[in-house]
Amino acid sequence: MIKKVDNKADATRVSDLVRDEGFMRLALEQAALAESLGEVPVGAVVVSNGVIIGRGHNRMILDQDPTAHAEVVALRQAAQKLKNYRVVPATLYVTLEPCAMCAGAMVHARLQTLVFGASEPRAGAVCSQQRFFESTYLNHQVVTRGGILAEASSSRLRAFFKAKRQAPPGA
Ligand SMILES: [Zn+2]
Repeated sequence: MIKKVDNKADATRVSDLVRDEGFMRLALEQAALAESLGEVPVGAVVVSNGVIIGRGHNRMILDQDPTAHAEVVALRQAAQKLKNYRVVPATLYVTLEPCAMCAGAMVHARLQTLVFGASEPRAGAVCSQQRFFESTYLNHQVVTRGGILAEASSSRLRAFFKAKRQAPPGA
């Protein structure tokens, strides 16, 4: 049997991947920034029409704010830039699978696309602990892609928590 090859579709997928990895690298830079500030290294960027309109990294400790996850920080900046709580059209890139709070914020923002890096087995709400975006009561659909530069993201997280465990008490 001859397999039909759709070259155009393949080319689209390749260019999608190149673009996703490019923006994910910028999200990883945000994660590095978080780490340098003693925060769990998770970073995010929001992109609209090819332009970055929001950047964020975890800053819960810095801001004494339980909602200051990378995704929320980046979405807030993007919304202010657009002067609209509906962050459209936009794609959010984040280095780690979002939690339920952040997934909820993405629906409120009417986010078009979410691209994440590593999966989060303990609290991930996209594919690990639940499939939040598939909830039937939601009035908005978010397209998701995962696993982009996942190893770069998870190795940074592993190193961060390893160093934390090895730090002397009180450090
Ligand atoms: Zn979160």
